[in-house]
Amino acid sequence: MRIGIDLDDTICRTTEMVHNYLEIYSEKTHLNPLDIMNDEDLKEEFFDEYIGKIYEEVEIKRDAKKVLKRLKSKGNEIYIITARRDAITKDGKTILEITEEWLQKNDIIVNGIVLSSYGDKKAIICKKYLINIMIDDDPYNYKKISTIGIKCLLFDDREKYNLKEDYVTNWIDIEKYIERNR
Ligand SMILES: [Mg+2]
Repeated sequence: MRIGIDLDDTICRTTEMVHNYLEIYSEKTHLNPLDIMNDEDLKEEFFDEYIGKIYEEVEIKRDAKKVLKRLKSKGNEIYIITARRDAITKDGKTILEITEEWLQKNDIIVNGIVLSSYGDKKAIICKKYLINIMIDDDPYNYKKISTIGIKCLLFDDREKYNLKEDYVTNWIDIEKYIERNR
């Protein structure tokens, strides 16, 4: 099977790391975190400063590493399809380099990484890469991908959404679902 997987908040806990650095930035600038996120310029400044660190230091979600390893060892192909945009960070590394290094550090072997994919573009990439199943935490992506007839599971480990089907709350259930639907 060809499995497409989103990265941020699906494999790794990006929102938590953004909040950690937002706290730091907010103390440094004496600004309120909400005010930073609501102001386009401040938000850009914040991400310019910290995005490299966030992607480097972000923690992997529970069971993601072992499930991905098992899926790969059973002959599945794994493609990371993410909205992360490639850019050069403050430290001179590209987002792609940081992402590759992070995957390596976490012992995750993939067949490909596609950046800058969100919404309709993500759906087109899934089609182009002949993805059999996509896993994503964003309901907008879920909708766009499902609409073009590609199976998508909404990863919802914080139980924010109220979907009746096609949703999973943890990595063990993702594995079970893929095993059942091979
Ligand atoms: Mg995501």
